[in-house]
Amino acid sequence: MSEADQGATRVRELSHFIDGQRATGVSGQFAEVFDPAQGRVTARVPVANAAEVDAAVAAAKAAFPAWSETSPLTRARLMFKFKELLEAHSDELAELITRDHGKLFSDAKGEVMRGIEIVEFACGIPNLLKTDFTDQISGGMDAWNLRQPLGVAAGVTPFNFPMVVPCWMFVMAAATGNTFILKPSERTPSASIRLAELFIEAGFPKGVFNVVHGSKAVVDGLIQHPDVVAISVVASTPVAEYIYGESAKRGKRVQALGSAKNHLVVMPDANIDQAVDALINSAYGSAGERCMATSVAVAVGPIGDELIERLAPRVRSLRMGSGMEEPGLDMGPLISAAHRTKVLGYIDAGIAAGAKLVVDGRGQTVPGREEGFFLGGSLFDDVKPDMSIYREEIFGPVLSVVRVPDLASAIALVNAHELGNCVSLFTSDGAAARAFSRQIQVGMVGINVPSPVPSAWHSFGGWKRSLFGDHHAYGEEAVRFYTHYKSVMQRWPDSVA
Ligand code: NAD
Repeated sequence: MSEADQGATRVRELSHFIDGQRATGVSGQFAEVFDPAQGRVTARVPVANAAEVDAAVAAAKAAFPAWSETSPLTRARLMFKFKELLEAHSDELAELITRDHGKLFSDAKGEVMRGIEIVEFACGIPNLLKTDFTDQISGGMDAWNLRQPLGVAAGVTPFNFPMVVPCWMFVMAAATGNTFILKPSERTPSASIRLAELFIEAGFPKGVFNVVHGSKAVVDGLIQHPDVVAISVVASTPVAEYIYGESAKRGKRVQALGSAKNHLVVMPDANIDQAVDALINSAYGSAGERCMATSVAVAVGPIGDELIERLAPRVRSLRMGSGMEEPGLDMGPLISAAHRTKVLGYIDAGIAAGAKLVVDGRGQTVPGREEGFFLGGSLFDDVKPDMSIYREEIFGPVLSVVRVPDLASAIALVNAHELGNCVSLFTSDGAAARAFSRQIQVGMVGINVPSPVPSAWHSFGGWKRSLFGDHHAYGEEAVRFYTHYKSVMQRWPDSVA
């Protein structure tokens, strides 16, 4: 057992975070949290009962009147302090992420930085909440707009980004004057508790940010709670669609980001070195468990053979290991044994459907880590659009190559897919790139850029069945999502001519 593992041999007991403090679970129910690199339970997370959900909502509701009246400048100053604390604790947060999730420590550090960027954007909230004013819109009358907070909002987050996705939600909700309840993934819950503690340490009032753990029953409790007025969710498409429907029918404001099947189109005039690097990093980084991962390479015209020739040795030489034991690694394990079984099922299905398995990652192990949930990188060629490995999100280190004759066919292929989170085109042709970005029915587009995650001051979201609701996440879209828009027209008796 490595030195790093020894510190994690005991099973930690996690807690909720309600009304400014850790709250030990009282339901008597727990979910197990694994260290995927060791394949063993390292923590127990309490599952909230209805009373605990009620307590979190009550704390958020009690905090709302004063918090919503706090000036934007005061909120911004607290955000600056929170940012400093996140920077000071970035290694600690990254370690919590790596231990629950398995991603490489450097990758987790990158995630922490992305979370901090959301906070940096929120530091500009006084400017973001400035609105329009029209003097003398009519005789003696002026008009202006307000953006007012909604009330108690809740968020449901996935396992694969335990810090940054919560930050998209609670940071922007709080900056705009709302109070918040986070229901993080029960598989990667540790970072959210630390975030809540640092939030209090920064000086935010108790009750502004609460965390309750659990799964479907807790989410249903939040959806059904009359005091929760808005829900943000990032999840697989069936879950996102379910939460969207249940929340919308109760009149709640809801944004629900779902699954992804991201294509990277390689034109014959692309810089092949850059395209191959992009594919390796984007398809296999974090073992393919990113919603912005490329899972389909679309080879246009004659580039297909060369692409396969260049990709195959790179995939074969990917180095796996425990995320805490960098440097020299390319990826960590998958999140769970069950998920690895699911990914293996897709590889079997691809072979059975007639796709050509050029690199087979099955059976690869990491010496000394035989219990970990590792799976080597796999590469398929000759994948067809009707195969399940093409249609469905695999969320593992499996890249499919689909060959098409021309750019129009590539665009038609991408547009026909039911998911539309992100897409990339690699080319040297500006006209092709322009046509592609205009015609493609996908929410986030990269031209010679893989996994084009928008920066904190832009906004993030897919199209089609990758997003339900009208708003993308973070950036100015979040300011719109977390506020009511109000128009005021005012005149005084003396000003009427
Ligand atoms: P998941 O759908 O299994 O779970 C997500 C969250 O929903 C968790 O908090 C979970 O407890 C909760 N949940 C699960 N089943 C539920 C149910 N029946 N009712 C109510 N809540 C339920 O997703 P995951 O495996 O944790 O995360 C991976 C998925 O998230 C992938 O599909 C990935 O594409 C997606 N994702 C999307 C984005 C995006 O921005 N579009 C970002 C990250 C992850």
